[in-house]
Amino acid sequence: PQVNETSPMTDGFHLVIEALKLNGIENIYGLPGIPVTDLARLAQAEGMRVISFRHEQNAGNAAAIAGYLTQKPGVCLTVSAPGFLNGLTALANATTNCFPMILISGSSEREIVDLQQGDYEEMDQLNIAKPHAKAAFRVLHAQDIGIGVARAIRAAVSGRPGGVYLDLPAKLLAQAVGAVEGRNSLVRVVDPAPRQLPAPDSVQRALNLLKGAKRPLILLGKGAAYARADAEIRALVEKTGIPYLPMSMAKGLLPDTHPQSASAARSFVLAESDVVLLVGARLNWLLAHGKGKTWGAPKQFIQIDIAPTEIDSNVAIAAPVVGDIGSCVSALLEGIDPSFPKPSAEWLSVVAERKNKNLAKMAETLGKDPTPMSFHSALRVLRDVVKAHPDIMLVNEGANTLDYARAVIDMYEPRKRLDCGTWGVMGIGMGFAVGAAVETGKQVLAICGDSAFGFSGMEVETICRYELPVCIVVFNNNGVYRGTDVNPSGGKDVAPTVFVKGSRYDKLIEAFGGTGYHVTTPAELEKAVAEALKTGKPALINAVIDESAGTESGRLTNLNPQSSAKKH
Ligand code: ADP
Repeated sequence: PQVNETSPMTDGFHLVIEALKLNGIENIYGLPGIPVTDLARLAQAEGMRVISFRHEQNAGNAAAIAGYLTQKPGVCLTVSAPGFLNGLTALANATTNCFPMILISGSSEREIVDLQQGDYEEMDQLNIAKPHAKAAFRVLHAQDIGIGVARAIRAAVSGRPGGVYLDLPAKLLAQAVGAVEGRNSLVRVVDPAPRQLPAPDSVQRALNLLKGAKRPLILLGKGAAYARADAEIRALVEKTGIPYLPMSMAKGLLPDTHPQSASAARSFVLAESDVVLLVGARLNWLLAHGKGKTWGAPKQFIQIDIAPTEIDSNVAIAAPVVGDIGSCVSALLEGIDPSFPKPSAEWLSVVAERKNKNLAKMAETLGKDPTPMSFHSALRVLRDVVKAHPDIMLVNEGANTLDYARAVIDMYEPRKRLDCGTWGVMGIGMGFAVGAAVETGKQVLAICGDSAFGFSGMEVETICRYELPVCIVVFNNNGVYRGTDVNPSGGKDVAPTVFVKGSRYDKLIEAFGGTGYHVTTPAELEKAVAEALKTGKPALINAVIDESAGTESGRLTNLNPQSSAKKH
């Protein structure tokens, strides 16, 4: 550790920082306060980048997406009790999404917490974290910090990645230990996410099934994007000639304009295919649990996943291939030579026909120019922005804003689309935007519904403070889903789904020195984005959308229970 060479002692603070640095972790996302204020200060002093937020949940989301983008755990640092709980929401979300992250929270006196004697911010954080994390550890002795951090890193990135909680009591941070002993206790983790080769017979079984398919389909999930096996996946798709569908965060793994992309014929291929190869995608609610009307014709699944217990989680999997995606796809590729049967011309032509029909319909919708601006006319502009800047980091959250943007905006490069993920949550917006800007140094375009933006909007100050190249577009239709709901009782309160009409979100960023734009037409939107991207400075564009546009719950109307005793 970096101790004063004349001093024979080091302490918990320094050992935590040195343990992280030794393992290549360069950034900390957090919110300082008792007992971690000095940890943040010292980390900065020792050359780490410390990004300080206004709310821990946003810091946690930034750390989570940092993990997704780098395959190294993103680190979030919080105070105890409420700060920890705020960070825990992001940790749980990271675990659900299979993003590697470590939440480090300071905690209060163990002896007092355990006897429930009422300490400052008293809470049994370790036990609360356990069900929401992939793993949870507490370190009590400074000599164990090295091994504690090593365990946290390995747990976060090996196998199925996830969130890890690391509990650091205040006392530990201040604990002194001999400098030499401290230095020797640190651990550099060797091969933190070892390759996991698939069993050869499982690969053969999968190849046999694929060979016999009449209407095959490849489905790519965000596990495939995370795995960074981009070249292998592209080769698998192109050598087999099979149509493929990307899940939302897998968009861009191959460019959405790829001739084999079946995105525009999604419902058709899900229903009509007979053999489906899942690559890093779970058959959860986002895929209708692999059964029912969505999946239509009888189906056989091949599933590539690193987690053996994912197999058969919803429906029977005919050919599981368990291992890391890079190794599994490479193994499949070895069995695919030029003699490997191509999908029938008939299957390819019905898919193409359906796709072209839907693309023509979409082009018609996008061609319209209604006043006020619609979701589609605004998104047409942003689609062209991404086309012109394919390396832009796109953050997208909301209900309708999410659904329409996912469908309209083509992605061209892997891991450029960051969105609401497995839970379909709102609130990831500004955290993901900061994390993406810090980790990649690239321009971020965050497209948020006005409701979604509200969950993390205060972080525009953070974006301005660190001068991050983030351009936020708020799709403002005056409410959750829509701005037209009325209070059915006739009382003076507005409906629970409605916000202040004509809100000027653009003024918010001006308070912190950023640039605000207020736009009501596609032409104004285009000009504002062009200007913002040219400067690369923090900007917020308040894009006024028709307040009657938008459907209840976006595409998830079926998940919204309706009152069976409704009077109004
Ligand atoms: P999507 O929401 O895009 O469908 P999911 O998050 O549901 O994607 O699924 C991702 C899957 O990928 C998880 O089941 C996870 O275990 C798996 N996964 C993540 N990383 C790897 C990897 N490196 N190798 C193999 N499987 C992985």
